[in-house]
This record gives sequence, C-alpha cells and structure tokens, in this order.
Amino acid sequence: MIFSKELNDKILGYIEKNKDEVVEFLKTLVNLEGQHGDKEELDKTADFLLKSFESIGMEAKLLDTGAENGPVVTGLLNGDVAGKELVFSGHYDTVFAAGSRGENPFYVKDGKAYGPGVCDMKGGITIAFFTAKALKEFGFRECPVRLMFVGDEEVNHPGEKAIGYMKECTENALVVFNMENRYESGEVCVGRKGCCEYTVRTHGVAAHPGHAYDDGRNAIEEMAYKVIGLQQCTPKNKDRDYSVNVGTIAGGTVCNGVPAECVARLDIRVKSMKALEECERKMKEVCAKTHIPDTTTELVMDNILPPFETTENVTAAYETLKKISDEIGGNITGSVVVGGASDAAYIAPQGTKVVCQCGAIGAYTHNEREYAIVDSLYEGVRLFVHTAYNCKLFA
Ligand SMILES: [Zn+2]
Repeated sequence: MIFSKELNDKILGYIEKNKDEVVEFLKTLVNLEGQHGDKEELDKTADFLLKSFESIGMEAKLLDTGAENGPVVTGLLNGDVAGKELVFSGHYDTVFAAGSRGENPFYVKDGKAYGPGVCDMKGGITIAFFTAKALKEFGFRECPVRLMFVGDEEVNHPGEKAIGYMKECTENALVVFNMENRYESGEVCVGRKGCCEYTVRTHGVAAHPGHAYDDGRNAIEEMAYKVIGLQQCTPKNKDRDYSVNVGTIAGGTVCNGVPAECVARLDIRVKSMKALEECERKMKEVCAKTHIPDTTTELVMDNILPPFETTENVTAAYETLKKISDEIGGNITGSVVVGGASDAAYIAPQGTKVVCQCGAIGAYTHNEREYAIVDSLYEGVRLFVHTAYNCKLFA
C-alpha cells in the first residue's frame, strides 16, 4: 500500500484538529521536568504519561525500577490483536535539575519549542503518543502498538531493572522506533559507539628519594610507560573501530617520596563488542609488560555503555522506514552512525529491528539552548501513522 491519499488526508485533518493539543501535551511534559535523583518529579511525569495512555484506551502500566529511578511507563493499544508489536521506545528523564530555568520553563517562539528535555526527548514522546491516539481514533487494527518510556536513561539505568523491562518489551517486537531527537539535517540513526571506562593502577614501592633511592620502585615511572602503550592501542586510521583515551592521572602524595601508587582513568569508544574485545586484549598486553622491576599493574573496567551496532535487522528496518518516508514525501534524508549512546544499544543485540533518532527535529540537547521544531512533531505523527498502516513491510 504505502501511500494512500485517503489516509494522508485523514491524518492531515487529525493534525489540524490536534495542533494545539500536541503543543499543550509537550508543554505539560516539559514543565513536569525530572532529572535522575528527583524521584518526586519523575513519578509525577510517569503518572501524567500513564493517565494520558489510559485516556486513549490503552492498557497502561507503571513498572517499578527501584527507589531512586523513575518507573517504566508502558501502554498497549490493540492488546487483543494477534501478531508482533510495533513499539515506540524512549525516556522521559532529562539531564536538567527541576527549577534550574525557573518555574514552567516551556515556551514557543518562532515555531520552536524551548525547555529542558523538549528535544531530548519529550518531543519524541509527544509524536509517539499522538500517533497512538490517531491510530485509536482511526480504528487501526493491523497490529498491537506499544509505547514504552523509561525514567533513568540519562544515567544508564542504575540497578539495571529498566534494561530488563526494555529487553522483555522489545525482544519479540515487529519493529522498534527509539524516539531520540533527530538533527536538522534529517537523518535517523542506525548505529552508535559504545563507551567504556577503565581504571589502571600501578603499584610500586615507597622509599626516601635521598638515602634510599635504590630501594624505591616508582609507580609514576611505571605508569608513564603504560600511558604511552595504552594510547598507542588506538588504530591510526580515522574510521577506526575503537579508541583509547587516558583522561586523568594521579600519583604519589608528596614530592620528597618515591610514589607507591599511580592511578589513571581511561575512556574507550568502540563500534562493536568485537572491537571492544580486540581493544581490551591489546590493553591487557600493555598492562602485563613490566618496565620497572617489582612493580605490578591492574586494569579494571568500571562502566560500559554498549555500542548500538548496525545489524542486518537494523539496516532492514531503516530501509523500510526510509521507503515509507520517501513515498509519502516525508523528511528522512538518510542514516547516520553517531558517537553518543542510547537505549537502542540494549534493543538491537536481541536481533530486534530498531531505528534510533525517530523523534522531534531540533538542536542543542543537554544544553540550555535546546529546542524542538514544532512542525516536526506534526510531520512525525504523519510519518508514523503511515508507517503503522504499512507495518507488514517490517515482517
Ligand atoms: Zn535522549
């Protein structure tokens, strides 16, 4: 089917009728705020989403993710329709502390909506909600449709409960659209680098640098070799699969002592888990080689945000979405692989078809100049209603 003029007219009529309501919904969502740690605000936001889902006849639920985190909010439309679910995923937490831009910070000026999290990614949530609302009104029965938004994405899900729910919700999905913001150049995202943090620790022997110089084993000197070796693990070519950056270093306690310990912290970026394995193997080799006799070295991974790999299924989902966009005269210009992480990284490894950055178009996320283009919300709804009616193309 893809483009149906009759459906398109119906969607345009729906958008015209709901224009103010879309902005009003986004305004409420943005003014509720909610940074990690501000459980009260996050709970209020989750509750607003829950009630909104219920108001359009979805089966809605809150899933607890622990005392610190905002709960997962899910809503299901067409729960009685057989077949795999079309899922819109995302997060409703932001990186901003509530009140940091005064009370009720949302406003619209010259077609752009401003406020904390307006683009990343409350605009995307708004698109998903008004898509579901349209589908309900149109009597859409082609497949079940799920909305699933987490409240602890910006801090990578402490306790990992939300990751578990997310995997459960998406492992058998027909396709998942992660509603992170799109750039003004119009691409959607098919890959993101992963980010890992490591600590390297060298242990030496403390001694007086005057009368016992030869008894000392200088941990900083040993670390100096390690730093050079670790930096050199990074392949020279610019389209490299991984990189190693020694970001901080600290050693010794006083100038007039041979330092017994030195600690460095590393940031590793990887395009795939295979690349991470290779990078880690090289780092371990560097750390295993001792230059100053009697010193020892440890290498520990502290944190991992896995890469969102461009799997065959990710490519297939992107190509289908692009085809739909092209045929309806939509605004998807292509695909990109970007540096920053997102929850698509937890969804794709299950073999799920997922496309990221399907949300509002805007700029300056994680920054107080952040904005979302209001018209991109309406165009997003038009794209995804057409997409839902073409859901069989994702099978
Ligand atoms: Zn985001």
